[in-house]
Amino acid sequence: MKVLVINCGSSSLKYQLINPETEEVFAIGLCDRIGIHGSKFELEVPASNFELEKEKDMGTHKDALEMVIAALTDEEFGVVKSVAEIDAIGHRVAHGGENFSRSVLIDREVLEAIGANNCLAPLHNPENLMGILTCMLLMPGKPNVAVFDTAFHQTMPAEAFMYAIPYSEYKELKVRKYGFHGMSHKYVSTTAREIMGKPEMSKIIICHLGNGASIAAVKDGKSIDTSMGLTPTDGLMMGTRCGDVDPGALFYIKNKRGLSDKDMDTKINKKSGILGIFEKSSDCRDLEIARAGGDVRAELAINMMTYRIRSYIASYAAAMGGVDMICFTGGIGENSSLIRSKSLEKLKFMGIELDEEANSVRKKGNVKLSKNSSKVAIYKIPTNEELVIARDTFNIIQGK
Ligand code: AMP
Repeated sequence: MKVLVINCGSSSLKYQLINPETEEVFAIGLCDRIGIHGSKFELEVPASNFELEKEKDMGTHKDALEMVIAALTDEEFGVVKSVAEIDAIGHRVAHGGENFSRSVLIDREVLEAIGANNCLAPLHNPENLMGILTCMLLMPGKPNVAVFDTAFHQTMPAEAFMYAIPYSEYKELKVRKYGFHGMSHKYVSTTAREIMGKPEMSKIIICHLGNGASIAAVKDGKSIDTSMGLTPTDGLMMGTRCGDVDPGALFYIKNKRGLSDKDMDTKINKKSGILGIFEKSSDCRDLEIARAGGDVRAELAINMMTYRIRSYIASYAAAMGGVDMICFTGGIGENSSLIRSKSLEKLKFMGIELDEEANSVRKKGNVKLSKNSSKVAIYKIPTNEELVIARDTFNIIQGK
């Protein structure tokens, strides 16, 4: 079984060819700067350690996908003889709104429903749709499956997903919390439950900390709350996104500075978070180096980030009536012992005890980070969103 996983962005197309049953990755790559001068094509074949990186003009996503197909089927370094060997295609789709609580086989109706949610994710859904249509054009007859970033969180109860604004905004405009990073939260919580021995009941908090960051409370395998909202701007302090902020403060800034909606969008999504406070970079590694050198703003940014993570952990433990396991994932969650350690500071009263030694050692794979005496298990679990897409695609075409 070979599933082609496609993650299509405005100027990029990431792809992987995976066997969802054995988890073998046949090929992995990226088409970058599509439609921009200096496009780049990358391919890696893990089995033979083959790597290809070349500058190649790709004016459209169709050009990019043609490159992907040509590379995958190349006589010299390709991994399949022809596209006939590809059984199905799984697509990452940002926003499924309330229409999709699980992954689906794509037909005309699904395409229309994804398009109808474009207004909820104007930067992502149209690109995802374009990726799907391009695959349908270049590989006709293959089953295409949509896997949504929002679907995993559709199990949230109304008290968690509703905003306390006039009800008509929900009824008429579908304004509510949807949550994102669903594939990552699904993958990590499924792995966590496996580590726990697949108990029927479990209370897990997943901290997905990367450039974008969100926390989810997963009770008995179902998401019951998460920190991102209608959009991925809400919740934690991120690389360049502000996270939780008083909406009144935004109106105040907008009026005082005479800013447009677009200016405000740029301010809260591209100029805030770590970058907004530290001002020199949005990258957590730069932040840690500066903090070690005594940079006061770097220290403040780290304290703000970890204060908020800690607050969400305590709040979600309250929402679930306890917590059995806390998991860290994403670029920061998997790699930064400092952020993990500071995020769990002061939580000993909840039975959360980090083993600082285990936390400071860099080890690949799933790693236990809690002391044996800790009432709550703490783990680092590297995320694998592509595998979730491949597995869901496989299950759907198998009729599961
Ligand atoms: P992601 O969006 O999941 O790729 O994560 C990107 C973030 O992970 C960036 O802020 C990186 O600085 C951060 N990151 C990657 N490696 C490390 C590391 N060793 N220590 C701290 N942060 C890291």
